[in-house]
Amino acid sequence: MLEINNIDTYYGNIQALHDVSISVKEGEIITLIGANGAGKTTTLMSISGIVTPKRGTISFNGEVISDKKPDDIVKMGLSHVPEGRHIFPYLTVMENLDLGAFLRKDKAGIKKDLKHVFELFPRLHERRNQQGGTLSGGEQQMLAISRALMAKPKLLLLDEPSLGLAPIIVRQIFDIIRLINKEDKTTIFLVEQNANLALKVANRGYVMENGRITLEDSAQNLLVNEEVKKAYLGI
Ligand code: ATP
Repeated sequence: MLEINNIDTYYGNIQALHDVSISVKEGEIITLIGANGAGKTTTLMSISGIVTPKRGTISFNGEVISDKKPDDIVKMGLSHVPEGRHIFPYLTVMENLDLGAFLRKDKAGIKKDLKHVFELFPRLHERRNQQGGTLSGGEQQMLAISRALMAKPKLLLLDEPSLGLAPIIVRQIFDIIRLINKEDKTTIFLVEQNANLALKVANRGYVMENGRITLEDSAQNLLVNEEVKKAYLGI
C-alpha cells in the first residue's frame, strides 16, 4: 500500500534521513521506533508531503506521492496525526472535526463518520461544544485522531500518540487504535517512543537510528530481540 524507496530527506544542509526504505501492506499496523532525534517524525512528514525527500520516492497504492502537496495526499486517503496534536484551540470540538472533513463533499458519509467517531470517543460527544484548547491532554489526542478519521483515511499516520498521557488514557487510545485497524480496516503507521507498547499493538516494526533503518522484523521477534530489549525496552 505504501512504499518508501531509499529516501534521503534534508533540513537545509543537514541530512535527517539516509536511504530509508519502508513498506506497509494494506490492513497492517506497522511501527517505527527509535530514540529522540532518530528521524521518526521526519519520516512521517516526508510521507505526508510536509517535507520533500531530496532522493528516492514514496508511492501510495501504486501512485508516486513524494512530489505531491499535503492536501492532495490527504485526498488520496492518507491522514497524519502530528506529534503534539495541533488541534485548533479556539475552535470547538465540532468545528475541529468539521475541518477534518473539509476536503470531502459526501455529506451523508461525513455525518456517518461523525457518528462513528463519537461512538469511539463518547467523551468528545459530551464536550462537542467546548473549545479544543480547554480539553485535557488525553481528550486533545482523541480529538486529533478523530479529526484525522473525519478525512476517511485508508492509511493513518500517528506520531507519538502516548506522549505525555497518563497510563490509563494511553491504554484507551491504544484500544481504539486496534479497533480502527480491525473494524474500520484502516492501515496504521505508528511512531512511538514507547517501544514496548508499540510492538504489542503492531504486526511489524522498524528500528531507526541516526536517520537510518537498522532493523526490520515482526513485532513479536523485535520484542525478544536482545539489542531492542537493551536499547528500547529497558530490559
Ligand atoms: P523525537 O522522538 O524527539 O521527535 P524523531 O525521531 O521524531 O525524534 P526528528 O524530529 O525526525 O526525530 O528529527 C530528526 C533530525 O532532524 C534531528 O537531528 C533534528 O534535530 C533534525 N530536525 C528536525 N526538524 C528540523 C528542522 N525543522 N530543521 C532542522 N533540523 C531539524
